This record gives sequence, C-alpha cells and structure tokens, in this order.
Amino acid sequence: MLARFVNSLPFGLSQQITKLYFQALVRNQREAHSLIEHHQYKKMDVKILPALQDNYMYLIVDKTTKEAAIVDPVEPKTVLKAVQEQGLKLTSVLTTHHHWDHAGGNEELVKLHPGLEVYGGDDRIGALTNKVEHNTRFNIGHLNVQCLFTPCHTSGHICYFVTSPEEGNESVVFTGDTLFLGGCGRFFEGTADQMYRALITVLGTLPDHTKVFCGHEYTLQNLKFASHVEPSNEEVKKKIEWSTERRQEGLPTVPSTIAEEKLYNPFMRVTQPTVMKFANCTDAIQTMKTIRSFKDSFKG
Ligand SMILES: [Zn+2]
Repeated sequence: MLARFVNSLPFGLSQQITKLYFQALVRNQREAHSLIEHHQYKKMDVKILPALQDNYMYLIVDKTTKEAAIVDPVEPKTVLKAVQEQGLKLTSVLTTHHHWDHAGGNEELVKLHPGLEVYGGDDRIGALTNKVEHNTRFNIGHLNVQCLFTPCHTSGHICYFVTSPEEGNESVVFTGDTLFLGGCGRFFEGTADQMYRALITVLGTLPDHTKVFCGHEYTLQNLKFASHVEPSNEEVKKKIEWSTERRQEGLPTVPSTIAEEKLYNPFMRVTQPTVMKFANCTDAIQTMKTIRSFKDSFKG
C-alpha cells in the first residue's frame, strides 16, 4: 500500500519519502515480513531476502564460481550480511525498475561495496552503470542472464531471465513489478497493450518450468481477485489453500513457475473464454485493460 502511494508521487518527492522511511525503519528494526529461504538448484542458488513491508530482494549465486548478483537491493546491509555469511563474491546489481522500494538502496550499496556493475533499463535508476535493452546478455560467473524489456508498470521495466549453461537446464526469471504470483503490476507508465506483450508474448513464452521470483509478497491478495474473476477455477482454490498455509508459517509464496501462472493468474489468462466473459470483452487486450481496472478498485 505504502509503495503504491509513494510510486504515484512525483519522482523527487518519492525520493524524499524514501529517505524518511529508511530513517524510521532503522529506528524500529521491525521483524521481517517473511523468513529467509534458500532455493538450491544444480548450478545456481537463489536466496530470498525479505525487505521493507512486503518486498523481496534475491541473491543469485553461481555455485561453480561463488560469483553472485543481487536483484533490487533496497536494504543493502541485509544483502552484505548474506554475502559475507556465504563467502560470496558479489559483482552485480540487477535493478528491475526505478521505484524507490526496488532501486532505493543502489547508491548506498555501491558506497558500501564499490566496483559493482549496476544493470537496469531506466536512467532514473540510482548508481546505474550498465543500461540494458531487450535481449541484452551478460553473465554471473557461468550463469547466463538475458534482459527482457517489459515496459508498462514503469516505462523502463526489465525482467531478468537467468539460466545455467547446460542445455535444457534450470531457469529462473525475476519479474519485479511486472508479473506477480497470481497478478501483475499497476499500469503506472504504460498501456494494456504493453502488459499483454510483457505477460503473454515475452514472459508467457519462457520455458514452462521457469521459476518465477517476483518483487512483492502480494500472492494472497492477488488470488482473492483471481477467484472473483474465475470462481470455479480449481487451480485458484488450490493455490489459495497452499499460500494461506505458507503465510501462516511466515514463509514466502515465491517462486511459482510460468506453467503454474498460466493456470490461475487472470492476467496471464486474458485469452481464456472464462476471463473474457467476466470482462465482457471479445478481445484479449481489452480484457487485460478491463480486469486491471477492476483490480485497481477491488476491495476483496
Ligand atoms: Zn514498482
């Protein structure tokens, strides 16, 4: 909620509020919204680091070289603690978009840990060293990173698709505020047409088994809306049950997979007759526009 409010303000003002927010945070030292979880794959590790009220930062590690990258390091001290504990070599920052709750820690992190490559697709991103475009590629150790340009939530939003070198092997995608588990980001700087391209054409064509790590823990709120759109979708019901249990234990609901999202996420399902019927539209992009505007005012 707070992030949504601040993101709707002019840029300079939102930066001021970020500062105040961090000062208050240091005073409070609240407990994190979720427990830290560590996902181990064959060639890569992803450590989920909860931040702020409901944000996630992700530490990606190439197991072979111990080289690491951090996605959206809004709380730099938490990141550096994890890096130190695991004896990692942090080399890069992957910024999904310029909003303060994602990019607001970049400058401090670079001060505390000089020499980092800071990737992003928007000049408004703090400490940016490497501006990327659609299909820009680079490496974290032996891992391959492919940038996916997904403008709409912001005009410079990038998702990062990370794969291990072996053919047909594990893949993960960091979707920021474009694709959430069971939902999608608000259209602050873009159109339904752009979100359709981002979700259906770009993310929707990644391998089905690709793990989805998104920017916020919004899953249960999103699934409530999903069940409003498709009351008889069994996959939505199952995911609500599972996510409720996870949250009761203080565990993150990330990651899901691209295949799973296609089963219960209404924004990934705008081509489905049930979702189109709910929106009273015959066209998928109109459906995207309509259900997003319903979600914006949905009280659950
Ligand atoms: Zn955002």
